[in-house]
Amino acid sequence: MRLFKTVAGLRCELARVRQQGDTVGFVPTMGALHAGHDCLIERAIAETDCTVVSIFVNPLQFEPGSDFERYPRDLVADCCHCEHLGARIIFAPEAGELYGNNADGFGCEAGGATRNPTRVLPPPEMLRVLCAPYRPGHFEGVADAVIRLLNIVQPDTAYFGEKDAQQLAIVRLLASDLKVPVDIRSVETVREPSGLACSSRNRYLTSGQRAAAAAIAYSLNKACHAFGAGERNSNVLASLVKRELATVPELRVEYVELVHPQTLAPLAEIADRGLLATAVYLGDTRLIDNVLLRQRRPVVAIDGPAGAGKSTVTRRVASKLGLLHLDTGAMYRAVTWLVLETGVALDDEARVVETIAPAAIELVPAATPDEPARTYINGKDVTEAIRTTHVTQHVSQVSALPAVRRMLVARQQRYGDRGGIVAEGRDIGTHVFPDAELKIFLTASLPERARRRARDLEQQGRAPVDLAQLEGEIARRDDYDRSRAVAPLTKADDAIELLTDNLSLVAVVDRIAQLYRQHLVPPSSSEQRSHRYRE
Ligand code: AMP
Repeated sequence: MRLFKTVAGLRCELARVRQQGDTVGFVPTMGALHAGHDCLIERAIAETDCTVVSIFVNPLQFEPGSDFERYPRDLVADCCHCEHLGARIIFAPEAGELYGNNADGFGCEAGGATRNPTRVLPPPEMLRVLCAPYRPGHFEGVADAVIRLLNIVQPDTAYFGEKDAQQLAIVRLLASDLKVPVDIRSVETVREPSGLACSSRNRYLTSGQRAAAAAIAYSLNKACHAFGAGERNSNVLASLVKRELATVPELRVEYVELVHPQTLAPLAEIADRGLLATAVYLGDTRLIDNVLLRQRRPVVAIDGPAGAGKSTVTRRVASKLGLLHLDTGAMYRAVTWLVLETGVALDDEARVVETIAPAAIELVPAATPDEPARTYINGKDVTEAIRTTHVTQHVSQVSALPAVRRMLVARQQRYGDRGGIVAEGRDIGTHVFPDAELKIFLTASLPERARRRARDLEQQGRAPVDLAQLEGEIARRDDYDRSRAVAPLTKADDAIELLTDNLSLVAVVDRIAQLYRQHLVPPSSSEQRSHRYRE
């Protein structure tokens, strides 16, 4: 692991990383790392080749009189921790490195004169709600630093925690408005066993305050249950939280508000989703937390290694549970078919993207479990056309283009917003639908997968093959799938592993259907996302 304190040094190193063809994942932090940060860093490490963690206690996001001076700082411990996790680069600049230095604090030298540095500002409407009115200047400071850091690091992917939901919404919007070419991924809030969201500021709490702080997550949970029982009114949901918090005398509530999670517009009623957020003081320590209340039919994500039977199982599960099989493979095939039809050269990424971007892709459930979902592109039924050898030969080339993948993942996520789908792949539960209600990691032992492959080959009339050789090939494929730059195979922390050795197809499908019923509330009500707890 290497530590850089200057933009110039970091840029040289990143140029070297890129020359090797490595992808870059970026986790901006203020240090004092805890289990919440670990989750972001681990995710970056799993999904990209080179993880950069920035450690920068940004003075601009601390309003006057707040805890800038006493904010916990321990660069040596943080660096050791990042190294232990497997991050490759730490960027720990001084404020002057980002903003320029002069006698008055921050400012740029320009032609001998000092001027204020250029600033990036969040949209004013996002600053009228939640924390912003209570922390004047905070999100202006956050937005400015994050955009500056994204511009310096230029990562393929950047990771932010859902705990800081207002920050996440602002960063997403700014990155999109400013056309910053980065994939912003959010990571579910990591909690202590009591439910308290992990935070660097938890270090300020006495043990009594820590116990009292558990009421924050508990009160949000209560609102979640009320939402599950059909409550949609903002006042009612916020009052529930306030009432619960009021039972703990150590807590002083700053706000409880319901807004749209993306636009942050205040909501009187929840239509499809709402972010219920609160800020609470315990002594001088200010803690925030939130919960996403969302009404959608469930999403089932099935990942696993090649040869575990994912596609057959997924099709059957969709049919049994009345869900749409979101056949992501068919989507990649459909766009490949379109590109081949239009005669665009497959290595001309820009033309390929221009061809695909305006295309309408639609998946319609199949009539029987053994048929694939019907696939339409620009209104044309291409269900059979996309399975010709010609398309099969070219689909991996098209789907390996990062821009194509980004576009299709965004479309898949739009299907996910409506819910009622089951999808399979290598990173469906970790990347495409990290908030899926049920995640299955479908796997089988190497010998079992080799036996199944041998049986398939035999059924295709191929000469018998050596099982040991097949096992070797499958093991190599597993290694490749785990380390590939695009969509690497990773098991989500909250996925249920299902080992299918000695299980028939019917038994596997039944087991998933059973898990679905056990884990999920009926589609007419809402779900409460299971919290991720860490010691
Ligand atoms: P900070 O160091 O507090 O600026 O946080 C750096 C990143 O870690 C931000 O994207 C936070 O949202 C994220 N983060 C902080 N606490 C948690 C948590 N408990 N769970 C998940 N992410 C978190």
